Amino acid sequence: MAKRDYYEVLGVSKSADEKELKKAYRKLAIKYHPDKNPDNKEAEDKFKEAAEAYEVLSDPQKKAQYDRFGHAGMGQQAGGFGGRGGMTMDDIFSQFGDVFGDRGGPFEGFFGGGGRAGGRTRQRGEKGKSLRIKVELTLEEIATGVTKKIKVKKYNRCETCNGSGAKDKNSTQTCNTCRGQGAVRQVRSTFLGQMQTTVVCPTCNGSGQEITAKCGTCKGDGRTYGDELIEIEIPAGVQEGMQLSMAGRGNAGKQGGPAGDLLIHVEEIPHETLQRDGQNVIYDLYLNIADAALGTNLEVPTIDGRVKIKIPEGTQAGKILRLKGKGLPSVQSYGKGDQLIHVNVWTPKKLTSEERKMLEKLRDSENFQPQPGKSEKSFFEKMRDIFA
Ligand SMILES: [Zn+2]
Ligand SMILES: [Zn+2]
Repeated sequence: MAKRDYYEVLGVSKSADEKELKKAYRKLAIKYHPDKNPDNKEAEDKFKEAAEAYEVLSDPQKKAQYDRFGHAGMGQQAGGFGGRGGMTMDDIFSQFGDVFGDRGGPFEGFFGGGGRAGGRTRQRGEKGKSLRIKVELTLEEIATGVTKKIKVKKYNRCETCNGSGAKDKNSTQTCNTCRGQGAVRQVRSTFLGQMQTTVVCPTCNGSGQEITAKCGTCKGDGRTYGDELIEIEIPAGVQEGMQLSMAGRGNAGKQGGPAGDLLIHVEEIPHETLQRDGQNVIYDLYLNIADAALGTNLEVPTIDGRVKIKIPEGTQAGKILRLKGKGLPSVQSYGKGDQLIHVNVWTPKKLTSEERKMLEKLRDSENFQPQPGKSEKSFFEKMRDIFA
């Protein structure tokens, strides 16, 4: 299913401020709240859609990324929102309860005070925290995309008890607080009247089971702390500041709870000779005066190796040569940028007396007098050519 535009989902303009976003989201969340629309799949989808849109647009960094790259900028390739088909209800209740939890406001308690109330699905344990890491990439790696193996320190599911936290099969019993249901009902008074919500059982964290003897390895936590080697597929064309996410690859949850996400922050390692400008790559070439006047063949670096280029005789400083398709791909579309070679003519800073004599002879020569005519493009024309 194609994703709707986040602004369209919330019914706000691109310039909407934080307050407007919150208001729009609140309205939709109340309309489609699962407690008001029991067993209504369509309402649930709308509820999730609104939460996802709000999650992105309320975060300045994510919003900037979305404005620039659309849904593709949200880390789809590495299994972001797109990859796992939207947020779970649990995500929404745990992350966005605070929108409704302004103390003393009319929404207080609506979502159980910002907790994980109202989650429909019975869930074991507590969800693991998301983990942020950064990955440094060279321009070459960005050009082709790359698989990185990164050692990450994190909570991992305990192998001894497989995450349950219990010593063995006989060391659990049905939870007394919820009688094995994993959830308890609460009646709350809200501005919409009395609402019955279901909250995760505080005793067993939703598992329905109480542990009577703890696993020796993890002391009942269900997870251990240590290194994990994670393979991360970085799509070609990513940019400094982009965030990719891998669902379920963050910290393991307590006592078998679902794992958090792994959030990967992209950093570019500056290239020695090439500079990135969006999808284009810029190279500053310096010619000596003789080569500029006589013409020459030379090699320039590109992202994929050195390339021979011809400098025609009479090349002016400031000329921009274009190597088509030698730039970078885009994360979200086809085609590649170009390499732009900016020609500089190097003026010698020191001269021997012999060089000085030669240049003094040339100084008054007719061909050495600047004569810019119609054939020389102005700076603005050159810029227009590049950005057209
Ligand atoms: Zn319980
Ligand atoms: Zn264990």
